[in-house]
Amino acid sequence: MKLIDGKAVAATLREEIASEVEAIVGGGGRAPHLVAVLVGTDGASETYVGHKERCCGEVGFRSTVRRLPETTTEEELLTLIGELNDDPQVDGFIVQLPLPGHISEQAVIEAIDPRKDVDGFHPMNVGRMTSGLPAYVSATPEGILTLLKHYNIETAGKNCVVVGRSNIVGRPMANLLSQKGWDCTVTICHSRTENLKEIVAGADIVIAALGKAEFVTADMVREGAVVIDVGITRTPSSATKSGWKLTGDVKFDEVAPKCSYITPVPGGVGPMTIIALMRNTLRAAKNEIYGN
Ligand code: NDP
Repeated sequence: MKLIDGKAVAATLREEIASEVEAIVGGGGRAPHLVAVLVGTDGASETYVGHKERCCGEVGFRSTVRRLPETTTEEELLTLIGELNDDPQVDGFIVQLPLPGHISEQAVIEAIDPRKDVDGFHPMNVGRMTSGLPAYVSATPEGILTLLKHYNIETAGKNCVVVGRSNIVGRPMANLLSQKGWDCTVTICHSRTENLKEIVAGADIVIAALGKAEFVTADMVREGAVVIDVGITRTPSSATKSGWKLTGDVKFDEVAPKCSYITPVPGGVGPMTIIALMRNTLRAAKNEIYGN
């Protein structure tokens, strides 16, 4: 069994991005600028935005967090998005999800200029990605593809089962792996899937992205499978000061011995998600996807 070290791969990519930014700034250019919009005070969202802010600092990006109160109206948020769309000093921005229930996430996502949509959630980017055109791709699937490539994991012709069909993880992941170049035979599972256990057990590659702690057990995984654990659930722990720890969707201790490769939680997909966001922001600063 080989552990896929997302933390180490992300560290290498961080250095690569940092040197590119150094060259841009050294040549008289402006550092890429990422803005994160955070509405309300959700603890997990605060943590994610904090990680993104720190990573921006490490690669030399300018980073701004726009914190808005929980009571912000949809109209106020859309006004801010309009301003960020028009601001030439902003290369890319993200609106941290989930949003408070009174704001339509879809309306917000569709208001973002696709050229600055570094999360890759806008239908324009999703449609382009699905058609195999250059696009900002959702950071988690993009980060997972980078890991598969880094470890030279064979995907062509393999049976890949993606558990979870969200717009930000499962669905784009399944689509990308089915595209030319990756060439997996993909099955996508969700909460209404029948015989899920048998389907997962037939997979060469399992992508667990359902958000249910330790859902994937050893009896669901075939010998030699590649297992990518996307899930992050806060579970109670007496071993940490906070009283909780992050747990993946895979029961790591019993599944790992059966795998050829497996990602840990934490330290697997998480760091790669952030680095993929940094790469998208650098692309946006260079107008790589949509040109000038
Ligand atoms: P969502 O809640 O949006 O989607 C979960 C998906 O899993 C849904 O499609 C749902 O099915 C499916 N599902 C839920 N329960 C089951 C079940 N018992 N059997 C089969 N399918 C099931 O979650 P996200 O996609 O946003 O995130 C998934 C997990 O990944 C979460 O733990 C999240 O925290 C984590 N995450 C981690 C990231 C990282 O950087 N490591 C980044 C983003 C997310 P249905 O559609 O039928 O409801």
